[in-house]
Amino acid sequence: MLELLLARYGLTDASLLCIDAKPHILKSGQADGIQPRTMEVLKSLGISDEIENEACQMWEFAFWKPSDDKAKVIERTSVVPEVIPPARFKYEATIHQGRIERILETDLLRYSGRGVLRNTKLLHMQLDENDTEFPVLAETETDGVKRLIRTKYLVGADGAHSVVRRCMGLTLDGESLDHIWGVIDLVIDTDFPDIRRRCAIHSPAGSIMVIPRERIVTGDYLTRLYVQVPGLVDQKGDLIDEEAFKVPRSGRDLRAKVTLEGILQQATNAFRPYSIRPKHHDSIDWWAAYQIGQRVSPKFIVKDSQGIDRPVIHIPSPKGGQGMNVSMMDSYNLAWKLAYHINGISPMIDNLTPLLDTYQVERQSNAHILIDFDRKFSAMFSGEMDIGAEHTYKEFRETFSTGNGFTSGCGVEYPESMVVVRDSPDNATSPVHGTNYLLGVLRPGRRLLNVMLERHADGWRRDI
Ligand SMILES: Cc1cc2nc3c(=O)[nH]c(=O)nc-3n(C[C@H](O)[C@H](O)[C@H](O)COP(=O)(O)OP(=O)(O)OC[C@H]3O[C@@H](n4cnc5c(N)ncnc54)[C@H](O)[C@@H]3O)c2cc1C
Repeated sequence: MLELLLARYGLTDASLLCIDAKPHILKSGQADGIQPRTMEVLKSLGISDEIENEACQMWEFAFWKPSDDKAKVIERTSVVPEVIPPARFKYEATIHQGRIERILETDLLRYSGRGVLRNTKLLHMQLDENDTEFPVLAETETDGVKRLIRTKYLVGADGAHSVVRRCMGLTLDGESLDHIWGVIDLVIDTDFPDIRRRCAIHSPAGSIMVIPRERIVTGDYLTRLYVQVPGLVDQKGDLIDEEAFKVPRSGRDLRAKVTLEGILQQATNAFRPYSIRPKHHDSIDWWAAYQIGQRVSPKFIVKDSQGIDRPVIHIPSPKGGQGMNVSMMDSYNLAWKLAYHINGISPMIDNLTPLLDTYQVERQSNAHILIDFDRKFSAMFSGEMDIGAEHTYKEFRETFSTGNGFTSGCGVEYPESMVVVRDSPDNATSPVHGTNYLLGVLRPGRRLLNVMLERHADGWRRDI
């Protein structure tokens, strides 16, 4: 995303290099949800058509909880809109992360002959200020061949185990909760009535999140299930070690014990009395066990001894279905500031780089708010609270509603800085009053709301 934006801003292959250790785009798994705000951005870049046409559109979120009627076991209590704030796209689009990567890469090749240099690993990086113009020194390796590169700036978009972050001595802050979840993408055969809605199911046997997904080449529709893993299950589906997951120990140990059979058995139990099974013997597209954790880098930018921002870390590592969107929006925030800076059209004040600094101010504050929300939502969903109880269940739905500004990407608000000025002398005479910023009252630091206008020339309704 960042390379694409910088290439669109005019940086050529002569000055821009993007490397990736992976040989190709993601084949399966990981992120699958595009938020309305990310859609607005992809639309403005002219690359949203495939997603608009082929993604699954999640318009509604259904909540299920244990029923007082023992024969029913679980019951649906409400269906709410997936996207609450006004947005041009009033749904969340679900489509595989690999397709997003491919859409970005295809567009990148219109601007860059090289595209992403694959099979190339960053081994090490450091600041070496003997060269004041190109003070970042990076060692890379492609097919066993090592190379030293000098650069003015380096952006570490290298994921949760970032080499850049490690070389800069930055650790991730934040607790890592030991909730283990199993995740499966499959073509499902079921009589559960809400399988094409996003669902949060709290059943006596544990929690499940249902994410309806796009149609695949076989003509079938994928479904993603996030399944809470409370105990261990053997190949036959019998629970063998219920206590293991209650004892705090390393997440890696616990994750290693999760099996596909165990996840499927757990899902079968939690869906009861409805039945679920893979539609065909080869209907499982991908599965994994992962740990819910919320961590953030304490700094997004490291300065050189002159105070100039040099390596930039972008990954705040918030999970809970936000990571891909947050990462892309980090890039969107950073790209224009970096391009201005590289082209010398943003001010240096006292030899500092205040425009670039706003990247850290804006994206870090957003990451912290998001992580607080995610921690609360994850804890509730993972059953730390008695979700069957009516008051906590209500709180869970309210947490979803208030957090929707962030989960949709539409409620993000940046603090004051050189680019966000709230107190202007014009405020007193401004025609804009009110505080309902989410619903359209203009507020510096928030996105402009989408507005639909009818074009006078031909009556065509256009989104602005
Ligand atoms: C099971 C699961 C489900 C998820 N679901 C969602 C979801 O629904 N919605 C959502 O928004 N997010 C989701 N996420 C999170 C999302 O996948 C990540 O947040 C997102 O991929 C982060 O993007 P990134 O580009 O920052 O990092 P990554 O996708 O991790 O990419 C990092 C890249 O850096 C490369 N790299 C790493 N180290 C080096 C090195 N030393 N040298 C060269 N290259 C290197 C890697 O090869 C990789 O291509 C999910 C993640 C998982 C695991």
